[in-house]
Amino acid sequence: MSTQNPIFIPGPTNIPERLRRAVDYPSIDHRSPAFAEMLKPAQDGVRRILRSKQAEIILFPSTGTGAWEAAITNTLSPGDKVLAARYGMFSHRWIDLCRRHGLEVEVIETPWGEGAPAEAFEEALKADAGHAIKAILVCHNETATGVVSDIAAVRRAIDAARHPALLYVDGVSSIASMDFRMDDWGVDIAITGSQKGFMLPAGLAILGIGPKAIQAVASAQCPRCFFDFRDMLKSNAGGGYPYTPPVNLIRGLSVSIAMLEEEGLPRVLARHHRIAEGVRRAVAAWGLSLCAQRPELYSDTVSAVVVPDGFDATRIVTHAAEKYGVAFGVGLGEVAGKLFRIGHLGSMTDVMALSGIATAEMVMADLGLPVTLGSGVAAAQEYYRTSRENAGSARAAA
Ligand SMILES: *Cc1c(COP(=O)(O)O)cnc(C)c1O
Repeated sequence: MSTQNPIFIPGPTNIPERLRRAVDYPSIDHRSPAFAEMLKPAQDGVRRILRSKQAEIILFPSTGTGAWEAAITNTLSPGDKVLAARYGMFSHRWIDLCRRHGLEVEVIETPWGEGAPAEAFEEALKADAGHAIKAILVCHNETATGVVSDIAAVRRAIDAARHPALLYVDGVSSIASMDFRMDDWGVDIAITGSQKGFMLPAGLAILGIGPKAIQAVASAQCPRCFFDFRDMLKSNAGGGYPYTPPVNLIRGLSVSIAMLEEEGLPRVLARHHRIAEGVRRAVAAWGLSLCAQRPELYSDTVSAVVVPDGFDATRIVTHAAEKYGVAFGVGLGEVAGKLFRIGHLGSMTDVMALSGIATAEMVMADLGLPVTLGSGVAAAQEYYRTSRENAGSARAAA
């Protein structure tokens, strides 16, 4: 793998030079006011990115998976029932994590390539007259299949069923890259990590916790210690941590948010959409299709490209790494070997995306797939050339 090349996996994402410098910082005393001055702006910034006015923001030294665990153990008790749909490896892993914590998960099996089934959720909630279901877990952007789900529709389903269950949303590969509205959508816990839209190294589990979820903490019986919201909220209130905080990443997070806000969040989202649309045009020009079944499900952060039957898609990823020093994502779980993934989130420009598209073409041609060199690049070039306003947003991302 060449470190000169951008990576095209859906996390960790490319780290801009400015953020690499931001995390390169000498040790400070985390019990000093210097740390408190670093923490609060990072938390305030995350709250803005989540589009929330009221959420408590918690930053654990962990990753997205730790945030899943923190969300459920702090608000639920063993034996509690949660409702979830399985439509990819990440929604699957969260379900598995819940079961290992002794929760009962009602799983709605959903084809991989589809998103969260709001209507099926509504039916399940209406059938739950005794309100046994305590929470609904939704993976906003299923990174394994490149599918984005309609969280507003899930909220409408919960409201239509007049059900009090809390709504927890995994936005690990959507937050800071795709539209996310914690308050408007009535999300009770929003979850992400540092290494995707925030363009930082892995190491922060980032949670936004709404008031109803905070209320659930007192009665929740799941064992937790390191991830206990109560210890963290108490320490954070005094500007500190219950243990040694990941100071460098928290400092990096503030700078990441500054970068996102200098570009302007709406423009960040528009840039992701434009880059993704160019990739999708390239995929169509190759004569291939996406795992996502319909345009409204297309993710703006990752495209999962289905290869012809009988061809092992993992070969594309291996060959790209070995010959060209470029990283794409493999298929996971049910879609292993059937697709490869192009991650196009975080610090990404049209020009970087073109290099990934060009590499994928060389790889597919090398491996004997019927792809015309330049076809996808040309389709994306045509789109980028005509859809850009100016270079400002790309510069801000670099
Ligand atoms: C990356 C990812 C995760 C897992 O996060 P880790 O940081 O690897 O623990 C969870 N959910 C989604 C949707 C992801 O893309």
